Amino acid sequence: MTYLNHITEAIGNTPLVKLNKVTEGIKGTVLAKVEYANPGNSVKDRMAIKMVEDAEKAGLLKPGGTIIEGTSGNTGMGLALAAIAKGYKCIFTLADKQSKEKIDVLRAMGAEVVVCPTNVAPDHPDSYYSVAKRLNEEIPNSFYPNQYDNTSNTAAHYETTGPEIWDQTNGTITHWAAGVGTGGTISGTSKYLKEQNSNIVTVGIDTYGSVFKKYKETGEFDENEIYAYATEGIGEDILPKNVNFDTIDTFIKVTDKDGAVMTRRLAREEGLFVGWSSGSAVYGALEYAKEHLKEGDVMVVLLPDHGTRYLGKIYNDEWMRQQGYID
Ligand code: PMP
Repeated sequence: MTYLNHITEAIGNTPLVKLNKVTEGIKGTVLAKVEYANPGNSVKDRMAIKMVEDAEKAGLLKPGGTIIEGTSGNTGMGLALAAIAKGYKCIFTLADKQSKEKIDVLRAMGAEVVVCPTNVAPDHPDSYYSVAKRLNEEIPNSFYPNQYDNTSNTAAHYETTGPEIWDQTNGTITHWAAGVGTGGTISGTSKYLKEQNSNIVTVGIDTYGSVFKKYKETGEFDENEIYAYATEGIGEDILPKNVNFDTIDTFIKVTDKDGAVMTRRLAREEGLFVGWSSGSAVYGALEYAKEHLKEGDVMVVLLPDHGTRYLGKIYNDEWMRQQGYID
């Protein structure tokens, strides 16, 4: 018999798939790391299980405990899976710009969800960061993983995503591209890959309205860079500890519209039914590839999550028209 003892054992070992159509005119090969193949349908399963297991080892999470996190949804799903596997309760705080589907999914997995306003500063008492921190102080035997600053996040990618990509490309990878939110995915994977071959170039995908690109280029945290944007999961108005700027060579900013339109192209032209930040990552990676990729180069771009969570937005023509993203 071949079976897993729990669905969480199916996390990782996701497929690497060649992009064939959207890469027209690009020299070299562009491969997509398809993270919706994780059981929680996103890349965040990897770090969620690692944060929980590391917290257990450190004695921060004890039997009967409650996991409390501020999450855009995907980390919540990963934490909910880990909590089910190990018998914990979950409370998640989310910003109200997040897709309704993401909130419904967390509730379906037995978690309690607290919806908070999007357009308040991170240190405002109503922000989803502050509410998570407060609940953690109020609820006994609770654990606040804090995915932004918890280095188990980066470590999960150093231990799994990096080695998988190195093995799947037989060590031929020349460029690594991923969107940057907490920074765990890009930084942990990049650290592993650059240890194998220091010539590998890492391209971070940022959004307009986020601080990362300017910070990398000038070392300045420029509040003028911060404004509301719609893409979910990437870009930040803070500098999380998991963004290791030394492991990221350059940043490319992608607009909400360019990311959204590319997301739909990935579904229709490549058969990859992915989320918004996947479109952003591919759009940004290809912008870089157009200028810099040579024959024989191998670029890997990570697609973080699945399209079901965006049916009411990206995959809804009416919504796309209202935003002015399509005619
Ligand atoms: N895309 C989506 C949809 C996400 O939920 C996240 C996590 N915030 C990311 C991209 C970015 O990944 P990371 O937090 O590892 O930088």
